[in-house]
Amino acid sequence: MITIALSKGRIFEETLPLLKAAGVTALEDPESSRKLILPTNRDDVRLIIVRASDVPTYVQYGAADLGVAGKDVLNEHGGEGLYQPIDLNIARCRMMVAVRNDFDYESAVKQGARLRVATKYVKTAREHFAAKGVHVDLIKLYGSMELAPLVGLSDAIVDLVSSGGTLKANNLKAVEEIAPISSRLVVNQASLKLKRATIQPMLDAFAQAVKQ
Ligand code: ATP
Ligand code: MG
Repeated sequence: MITIALSKGRIFEETLPLLKAAGVTALEDPESSRKLILPTNRDDVRLIIVRASDVPTYVQYGAADLGVAGKDVLNEHGGEGLYQPIDLNIARCRMMVAVRNDFDYESAVKQGARLRVATKYVKTAREHFAAKGVHVDLIKLYGSMELAPLVGLSDAIVDLVSSGGTLKANNLKAVEEIAPISSRLVVNQASLKLKRATIQPMLDAFAQAVKQ
């Protein structure tokens, strides 16, 4: 049995065509089904539905053989025990630093000010500002980061941006790109060795189907 960990929403939707190319079709829709284990057209393949940020953990421990996770999530997790063979080029967006429209980020950085930064991506933010030599106090949040600078919780946020519409609607501006983000296929290293006969053809089909 091959178990594939996916999160609901954009990753599930955008992975479906790639699964199809590998000969796998989900028999139920996670948006309408309450089941967390979804059967597929193949007796030897099942899908499990987990939080986006939990995908690397399921694969790391071998509870799932394969998974699809954003680079944002993989960087926070660290990637231990994971083989990451294919950039699927889906769920694309950018990890950005954003501030209030009236905040002069460049000057604050130049003056060596200590910045308060609110984010869900604490490790990513710590690494980014350390590399720039900017001193930061990091504040861990679990969502709605855009609110933090508006109510004085932080000077800046580190968050994913796609269209920029949410920033704009909240009088925020992106001031720095940290990294382009897309999702990768992740594979449990032991699974790849023990189940290579089944997994390798799936990896090949995924690689073929990826839009460059
Ligand atoms: P949860 O909603 O369970 O708290 P989440 O917000 O991380 O988790 P999603 O919003 O579905 O879940 O995001 C899943 C992945 O999709 C992210 O890890 C990221 O890689 C990518 N992603 C997030 N936001 C966007 C976006 N606006 N555009 C494109 N890809 C995105
Ligand atoms: Mg989300």
